[in-house]
Amino acid sequence: MTGNGARLARQWQGQFEGQLLTPVDDAYEASRRIWNGMIDNRPELIARCVSAADIRAAVKLASAELLPVSVRGGGHGVAGTAVCDGGLMIDLSRMKDIRVDPVSRQVTAAPGLLWGEFDRATQAHGLATTGGQVSHTGIAGLTLGGGIGYLMGKHGATCDNLLSVDLVTADGEMLTASVEQNPDLFWAVRGAGANFGIVTSFRYRLHPLGEVLAGLLLHPRELAGELIAFHREFLVGSPDELDTSIGFLNSPEGAPLVAVVAMYAGAPREGERVLEPLRKFGPPVADLIRAMPYTGVQSMLDDAAPVGDRYYWKSNFVSEIAPGLVSVLRDGAAAMPSPHSIILLFEIKGEIRRVPRAAMAFDHRDANFELSIIARWTDPGADAANIGWAREVWNAAQPFVSAGVYANHLTADETGSRVRAAYGAEKYDKLAMLKARYDPGNFFRLNHNIPPRGA
Ligand SMILES: Cc1cc2nc3c(=O)[nH]c(=O)nc-3n(C[C@H](O)[C@H](O)[C@H](O)COP(=O)(O)OP(=O)(O)OC[C@H]3O[C@@H](n4cnc5c(N)ncnc54)[C@H](O)[C@@H]3O)c2cc1C
Repeated sequence: MTGNGARLARQWQGQFEGQLLTPVDDAYEASRRIWNGMIDNRPELIARCVSAADIRAAVKLASAELLPVSVRGGGHGVAGTAVCDGGLMIDLSRMKDIRVDPVSRQVTAAPGLLWGEFDRATQAHGLATTGGQVSHTGIAGLTLGGGIGYLMGKHGATCDNLLSVDLVTADGEMLTASVEQNPDLFWAVRGAGANFGIVTSFRYRLHPLGEVLAGLLLHPRELAGELIAFHREFLVGSPDELDTSIGFLNSPEGAPLVAVVAMYAGAPREGERVLEPLRKFGPPVADLIRAMPYTGVQSMLDDAAPVGDRYYWKSNFVSEIAPGLVSVLRDGAAAMPSPHSIILLFEIKGEIRRVPRAAMAFDHRDANFELSIIARWTDPGADAANIGWAREVWNAAQPFVSAGVYANHLTADETGSRVRAAYGAEKYDKLAMLKARYDPGNFFRLNHNIPPRGA
């Protein structure tokens, strides 16, 4: 395998401005390692691209040599589909170009950017768009699967703010997709993007955003039922600017906690007024809410998801946090084999729910919450216990969740019906037809795959 990679690297290097790496190259190990330490795949060859032309050359290489292809953006994909075992990994992580136009309030961003890098560049102009809640997540995979974050109530999902993409298709063609150009492709890219090509450039709409009020409220875990009941009432009529999540977690010392993560995307003084009742409830054992720059909010949870630990994730959308679900999650949290695991309920409200459902592939806007059960540990010997824990909690939660799931939170072992559940039957069928048009040979299949209709 290594010999073949070396031969291919020698033969094709002249076509690349970037590098072709084989297992003997120093940069190979770092390039194949991703956020989830469970993923230990070894590509035969890695194309570290620096331009759209490199991406096109990589697609041609894989076609000519009949190599399976994976695409790495930020390398945060929960399922680890960025790294193939054997085959060619097309690594975009060196593509970091970003251009903000403060007049039109638009940004053009390359696919190797992480949200921390993206937010720093846009916040330099007092602008932002909806991004992920951990700064080392890639913009590419998150946008192409949808994108939920602190600004979704005010400005919609990340994909709702996407204006156009440039991409390389399976046959090496370069296309632009937007509402005006290739609109059916643009429909598919916003939610199921990894199936349709390799995006070389994203253009997003930006919004003014200054300092915000944000942070965590920590309560003893036994208050979970009362807190969630209070939170439910508190959310009624709350402004789009307010984003909250509920988390079941442990303190660094191991104390069982339930937390509210909150951000108010408006003037901090107004946020103080809006958040006052929630901050008074309990009162919390710690109130960590304060005014901070948006870039600070976007990295405040980074320590809860360090790169390289082992992870397993189970999720579903939820309409209502019923008392039965609270019991399941409280009991589940008490049974965590690893103190670093976490259960999150992201609130879905405001603008993300107002965008018409048919507008794009991304779905389940009518959910009120997204439930993520995230097992995190470091010892490979504890894999079975931690994976088993996440599955058990998820199984116990099934009577209380909706059928839908968020594509970006699917794990490697969730294929077929779970991918279908990410889009719903009607959208899935439309996606399979579009796949047959844009990628009939299923060249882009190492992803949450939608096989072409008729394949
Ligand atoms: C710690 C953590 C926090 C997260 N927080 C959030 C959050 O707040 N909100 C949210 O919505 N999601 C969140 N996610 C989920 C996140 O959206 C997905 O993990 C997403 O896939 C990450 O994108 P990436 O580019 O880093 O990943 P990668 O693993 O590089 O890519 C993921 C998938 O997209 C494909 N892909 C990557 N780049 C391209 C490209 N340019 N063209 C075509 N296909 C491409 C890959 O082939 C792969 O199949 C989080 C994930 C983690 C691990």
